[in-house]
Amino acid sequence: MVRKNSNLKDLYSFIEDFVGPSGKEVFKLLAHSPKELLDDDIVKKTGLDEQEVRRILYELHNIGLVTYKKLRNPEDSRYIYYWRVDASRLNHVLLQRKKAVLNKLKERLKFEEENTFFKCPIDGVRLTYDEALENDFKCPRCGGELEMDDNTEIKEKLRKIIKELEEEVEREEKLIGGS
Ligand SMILES: [Zn+2]
Repeated sequence: MVRKNSNLKDLYSFIEDFVGPSGKEVFKLLAHSPKELLDDDIVKKTGLDEQEVRRILYELHNIGLVTYKKLRNPEDSRYIYYWRVDASRLNHVLLQRKKAVLNKLKERLKFEEENTFFKCPIDGVRLTYDEALENDFKCPRCGGELEMDDNTEIKEKLRKIIKELEEEVEREEKLIGGS
């Protein structure tokens, strides 16, 4: 069972993108289940067909989000699989995603710091100095006069978010022992 986590929502949308909506459903079921689940349990609880459930489990396993224990069924000596969320691995995946977001924000801040911006007061089109120069300081969409855009506030906001996220990443790295 996975503890409630504010990052889970983010993870759910990630799974939805990569494995599909039913992938999210299966993962959610496993994440909230207090015990390991058999393929059959998952089929019954989600109403998805067997093949779809197997495909999803295989893909979730590939990303490293779920893991299984394999036991031989004493009745027909076939293997049965007990599935569960790989909680330690899950924390690593979440941390990696957070770091990727952090890097994007840092790049964005750098871009804001290294450029001067011009903005169209009519439709909000925003250009760098070089782009504005190429367009004779006219808006490429409506032809209006571009005005200098003060990005102090944007930079301050970005710095604040980056700082918070950095502290979060640092805390989590300490908790789960880095990556
Ligand atoms: Zn315009």
